[in-house]
Amino acid sequence: MLERWLVAAGLLRSQKAKAQVRAWRDSRQAMAFVHKLIAFRERLRTAAFRMEGGLLPGDAFLSEVNTLLKLHPERANLTKQGAKVVPRRQFEPRTPEDVWTPIVAATAELLSELDPSRIRKCESASCVVHFYDTSKKGSRRWCSMNICGNRLKVAAYQRRQRLGD
Ligand SMILES: [Zn+2]
Repeated sequence: MLERWLVAAGLLRSQKAKAQVRAWRDSRQAMAFVHKLIAFRERLRTAAFRMEGGLLPGDAFLSEVNTLLKLHPERANLTKQGAKVVPRRQFEPRTPEDVWTPIVAATAELLSELDPSRIRKCESASCVVHFYDTSKKGSRRWCSMNICGNRLKVAAYQRRQRLGD
């Protein structure tokens, strides 16, 4: 599960990182980490709800994120890319706990740099995903056009077909 998620998130790019994760993906340590991550996701969801409602995240959650930032700092190095120098994030998880690094960095970014009015729950009633709307107009309605957006369109189409009978 953890490995699949890391691949989906585009975090496991190097062969070395992939091999490292493969070595511990089904271990008891990895399972324990996944449980912690699920609990963290719930607290993040609560913070996202608060921000959608114009509030700030709770103090307990902020200090939890601060502790994680301290324990799992992000490492980056600079490389040349065309006419620019850009930072490249290093991610080579040696243990499941190392996976906190990109998660907590993304959380910190979400909490501090993003526009709260663009954090939204997916409009599909059966979906629990909250997403950050990066569209130009800020009018995105579904977490994924391919999954939820499409499902609703298909349902509306079927309804019309039935009414037309
Ligand atoms: Zn959705």
